[in-house]
Amino acid sequence: MLQGSVSVRRVAAWLLVLILAMSAVVAAENGARVYHGNTKSKIFHRPGCRYYNCSKCTATFPTRQKAVAAGYKPCKVCKP
Ligand SMILES: [Zn+2]
Repeated sequence: MLQGSVSVRRVAAWLLVLILAMSAVVAAENGARVYHGNTKSKIFHRPGCRYYNCSKCTATFPTRQKAVAAGYKPCKVCKP
């Protein structure tokens, strides 16, 4: 009886850790999927590129496809 409740508690704790880990991964992926487009040169960059936060990089795209569809070209430095 006691043994049973201990293992249920252990599984519940493990599930909680798993859910927290998964939501952290999803949040990280969502953040990484934002591309910045240079409204002047029509080139878009992925996070981490040295041009990602340039003064003209004010356009944002949730996906690479949306940036391309909007007429933007991938950067040759960061190759998004
Ligand atoms: Zn770039």
